[in-house]
Amino acid sequence: MNPTKIVCVGRNYVAHARELGNEVPERPLLFLKPPSAVIGEAQAIVLPEDSQKVEHEGEIAVVIGRRARHVAEAEALAVVAAVAPLNDVTARDLQRSDGQWTRAKGFDTFCPIGPRVPLDGDWRALEVACRVNGEARQHGRAADMAFGLPTLIAYVSRIMTLEPGDVIATGTPEGVGPLRPGDEVEVELLGLARVRNPVVAASVVAA
Ligand code: MG
Repeated sequence: MNPTKIVCVGRNYVAHARELGNEVPERPLLFLKPPSAVIGEAQAIVLPEDSQKVEHEGEIAVVIGRRARHVAEAEALAVVAAVAPLNDVTARDLQRSDGQWTRAKGFDTFCPIGPRVPLDGDWRALEVACRVNGEARQHGRAADMAFGLPTLIAYVSRIMTLEPGDVIATGTPEGVGPLRPGDEVEVELLGLARVRNPVVAASVVAA
């Protein structure tokens, strides 16, 4: 099911916030990616001509299973249908220059999402890894999130109604880095699912 929205969380791991010169915020820092950015396994991430610095952000995504509004933290996991690996691809230079993140996060192909898998067991045991050309770049544990899954779901549902298929991207751990034409980037929920995407320059893609 296609999401009506992809709600993303910024600076949700202390080490990643610091690597970009930020602190973890007092409450979850939210932004949106458009559903038009979604791609799947093996589809190409297209580097836009407008950016000179596009980076990977491997993340644990939550997929909503039923309509949720004003969900209590204690009930929040009941609205989760699945988890999935997600790459919050980001034009870092535009994120800095624009002052808000819609353009930097919103280009077509900037949201690879892998297979949805059921959330069995404790969400804190989830781990995410990101590799570029087979080389380890990021590794994070859900247990290290500043705001965990129940807190995020409850918080978002107080702002906007979550619909079945909607996605919450829960933030990236440290180790973000550049993507270049010819790279292959992979985000894996360890032991569960992964999404791999080639990276191409806009100039090689037909208009
Ligand atoms: Mg992110």
